[in-house]
Amino acid sequence: MALSTRLLQRLNCEGYKNWMKAGYCLHMLQSRLQGYIDAEMRTFHRQLVSKISPAARQRYKSCRCRVRGKQFHPECPVCREWTELILDHHKNRNGDIHWGNCNPSLWPVNYWEVAKVYLPRGHTNSSGPQKCDAAALLNLINSCDHFKVADISRVREIIKCRNDLMHSYDLTVDSSWLKDFGKKIQELITELRHVPSLVNEAEQLQEVLTTDWSVEDLVTHEVDGIGGSLSDVDENVCFKHFSLDSLSLNELEIELLCQLLEELYLQKEEHEVLSEKELTNVATLKSFLSENKDLLSVFEKELDKLDTLLN
Ligand SMILES: [Zn+2]
Repeated sequence: MALSTRLLQRLNCEGYKNWMKAGYCLHMLQSRLQGYIDAEMRTFHRQLVSKISPAARQRYKSCRCRVRGKQFHPECPVCREWTELILDHHKNRNGDIHWGNCNPSLWPVNYWEVAKVYLPRGHTNSSGPQKCDAAALLNLINSCDHFKVADISRVREIIKCRNDLMHSYDLTVDSSWLKDFGKKIQELITELRHVPSLVNEAEQLQEVLTTDWSVEDLVTHEVDGIGGSLSDVDENVCFKHFSLDSLSLNELEIELLCQLLEELYLQKEEHEVLSEKELTNVATLKSFLSENKDLLSVFEKELDKLDTLLN
């Protein structure tokens, strides 16, 4: 089926293409960092176990300790010892720590329950780095002193860029923002040059950012405007000069929109009431989804959820 005019307009809109390009770079970054983070956090856990007293190397059968958001007051001797050690390696020990992410009784036996103390909010159900996006992995590098990064501001800059992207509710960023992002991501790759899976990525990331992502409809003989869905996008379109590896355009759009919605729901959970500006953002996002019928079919339930945020 030919793609609708609206769909082609969206895919060829400069700001939206920029937004998608940056999102794809972060997707690449996340996929290259996951294996590294997994290995490092397993090593870190082994190091902590070797420092802990023999009695605290096993789960404490009578542990009844409970976490609540940013609050944790360990009650059993094992959790008390682990809490102290975990905090010794936390670079933000006097700021917000999202204890609610983890189950303390599992610290002696599960490396990822320890790692979750260094993650941002909203990772209670995370079972490993494979479920984490780039922002979560970079936050872990930023918060845990196991990671030796000479210039940590380069990590923080990309976390900020990712927040810009996820707070752009019209799903666009301008070209000067993208250029700046490109520079910052190259600086991050230089900083993380000890990560084997990132070593050869600088060039590919640059290519993602500088290539023309314009989309053409290959099915031009059909009547335009009668429909077309997200899955048709990948069957029928071609980038003029570029192809994504390991991810379809369809999947990329859905992945980024899911992340953006997740951020929005977390904000609502944290602040309970959304500000005037946030409500405008929700309305902008809602109208974007309503206007793009192909996306609407995927995110129909989300539209109802967004309505509840507006009420
Ligand atoms: Zn306990």
